[in-house]
Amino acid sequence: MTVSFELSDDLVGYGREIRDWSVEAVRPYARYADVHHAAPDHWRQIVETCPVAIGTHDRRQVKRQPAFAEGKWVRDLVVTESLTYGDHWISNVIGAGIGHLVVKLMGTPEQIDKWYRPIVDNGGQTAFGLTEPQFGSDTSMVETTATRDGDTWVLNGTKMYCTYGGQADYVVVFASTDKAAGPAAIRAFVVPKGTSGFHVAKFNEDKLGIRSWTTSELLFEDCAIPVENQLGWTGGDGDGPGPAPRTRSGRSGALGALAQNKPNISATGIAMAQASLDIATDLLQEQRQSFAPHRWSLVESDLENMNAALGRARLVNFRAQWLQDLQRANKTEASVAKAYGPPTCERVIRRCMQLLGPDGASTDLLLEKWYRDVKILDIFEGSGQVQRIIVGRAVFGGADRVA
Ligand SMILES: Cc1cc2nc3c(=O)[nH]c(=O)nc-3n(C[C@H](O)[C@H](O)[C@H](O)COP(=O)(O)OP(=O)(O)OC[C@H]3O[C@@H](n4cnc5c(N)ncnc54)[C@H](O)[C@@H]3O)c2cc1C
Repeated sequence: MTVSFELSDDLVGYGREIRDWSVEAVRPYARYADVHHAAPDHWRQIVETCPVAIGTHDRRQVKRQPAFAEGKWVRDLVVTESLTYGDHWISNVIGAGIGHLVVKLMGTPEQIDKWYRPIVDNGGQTAFGLTEPQFGSDTSMVETTATRDGDTWVLNGTKMYCTYGGQADYVVVFASTDKAAGPAAIRAFVVPKGTSGFHVAKFNEDKLGIRSWTTSELLFEDCAIPVENQLGWTGGDGDGPGPAPRTRSGRSGALGALAQNKPNISATGIAMAQASLDIATDLLQEQRQSFAPHRWSLVESDLENMNAALGRARLVNFRAQWLQDLQRANKTEASVAKAYGPPTCERVIRRCMQLLGPDGASTDLLLEKWYRDVKILDIFEGSGQVQRIIVGRAVFGGADRVA
């Protein structure tokens, strides 16, 4: 049996074309996106200039992305790293958020037709409202309530840091239908923009990094939505007698959607770190004459170690998505990827800044911005500590054991 760690030439070539384009077309707006908390207004025209079809990571598009022997999830990993090598502002404007992915995971066929397909066919923005003022990591602590009233669910509660929540076509909101029943009673509800009782309390949080992704605080005050907007709802009395929801609970759907995306978050960090390393290497090479030989060998050793670290981050990432392409369990591997990638990338960017001295911290370069951005990647979509807990459980005898 042959074991190969190489990507096909076709996929590598496709990734290179996207990466080169991203440097030319996306990177010039990196500072703008950071300062203005937004992608440039003409981002669609920018995307049009890409020489190969990129579409989105999950959206069918007019110009279809090519298929590769490696599979969809591995291809998307290459696309994510290549796209965000220029800068990450591009990824969220051409993706559609994660709300619609939850619909795909948890919805009935009718709900998928109604809420998922229009987004992938025509574009749009969706959001995912799980975090609340009282919790983030511990998803069992959902305080937002959903109370049945005739043919409606009435939502009450607050959601925090909801990416694009203030502008999305709809938000998938996680709420408890029965606090006494604990996490099993958490369900997911589609709340369209403009629904009465759905308020954007704060449009954007001023953050250290990833500033072009607006994160909103959302308030639900007696917000009534049709019962059909409960994902997985197949009729009957919701959680009472009647057909069971498609999934065990809304919480497992939320965690499932995040697990699919974890390697992509890590790939974004790898792109920032690789870009920092490449810029630092070029600049240091130009200054080589000013280094004494023994100092230069230390610089070379640092650069080599950083390249090796990024290589390891890629390997664990590819393993997670390779398993997903094979439709095998990858929960632990996705956590390994998310636990290892962002903090490693943070260390790489920090070391590159150090090697460049004052230039490294100057806003003339993008390293200081990527250093701020990469920190956030270790916090959202499951923090590093929480990923390490998941991996630890697998190592010490959980069902989803690390190979
Ligand atoms: C840019 C950005 C975008 C976001 N987008 C969304 C979104 O679209 N939708 C959404 O719902 N949320 C979103 N979030 C929120 C994000 O998912 C949460 O911030 C994250 O889950 C952490 O939750 P928390 O902030 O409450 O921190 P906490 O859960 O309170 O954690 C605080 C610290 O304690 C650590 N910790 C927690 N539990 C343990 C433990 N058992 N053992 C050891 N350490 C632990 C954590 O790692 C962290 O360092 C976003 C956040 C940011 C910054």
